[in-house]
Amino acid sequence: MLRMLLSAAAQLLLTPPPLAVSAPFVRFRSGHESRSRQASSCAAANELPDSEAGWMTVLSPNQFAILRSAATEPPGYSAETEGELEFELNREYRTKYPQVGAYACVGCGTPLYHARQKFSSGCGWPAFYDGVEGAIEERPDEDGSGSIEIVCAKCKGHLGHVFKNEGFPTPTDERHCVNGICLRYDPSVEQPDSIEAVPAGLRLGGIPD
Ligand SMILES: [Zn+2]
Repeated sequence: MLRMLLSAAAQLLLTPPPLAVSAPFVRFRSGHESRSRQASSCAAANELPDSEAGWMTVLSPNQFAILRSAATEPPGYSAETEGELEFELNREYRTKYPQVGAYACVGCGTPLYHARQKFSSGCGWPAFYDGVEGAIEERPDEDGSGSIEIVCAKCKGHLGHVFKNEGFPTPTDERHCVNGICLRYDPSVEQPDSIEAVPAGLRLGGIPD
C-alpha cells in the first residue's frame, strides 16, 4: 500500500503543472539534493536531451522542476541550503561574490553570467545586472503578469525573471533574479576586462550586507 502511495505521489510530481507555469514553488522539493546529477548534466553539454523524459535523466528533480517546468526555489534557499550555489560559495570563498570566473547553466554548461555581474539585491535569490552576451533570452512570462522570463538561449531552460529600472546603481539597473539551482560556478572561465564590478555589499537602498 505504501509503495502504491509513493508511486502515486511520484506520478503527481512528474505530471506537468497546469497553466501557471511560473507559480512559486511548483513541484519544487524542499531539502538538499545530491549534486551528482549536476556532474552528469555537464557531461550532456554537447548532446542535449531532445525530450522532457531525457531531461529527467540528466537533471535532479528540483533542477527539472525549475529549468523545465518554470518552478521557483524558495527565497534564501540558495544561500541557506548546504550543497546549493550560494551556500557553497560562502563556504569555499567566504563570499557570495567571487570576482573571477562565471556561472554556467546546469542544463547545458553554457556560461550565462560573468562573476563580476553578480550583486546583492537583497531579494533572496542570486542577482546579476547583466548576462554573457547572447547567452540569455528574454520573453514575456506565460502567466500573463507582465513580468519578463529569462531562459538559457541554448537549452531554453527557465532561469528566473529580469526586472528593470528599479534604481540599482549598477551599470544596467537590471536585476536578473535567477534560481541558484540553475547555475554552477566555474572559477576557470575568463571574463572580459570590460565587465564592470559592482560593490559586493550592494543591496536595496545601498545598504551593505
Ligand atoms: Zn542551458
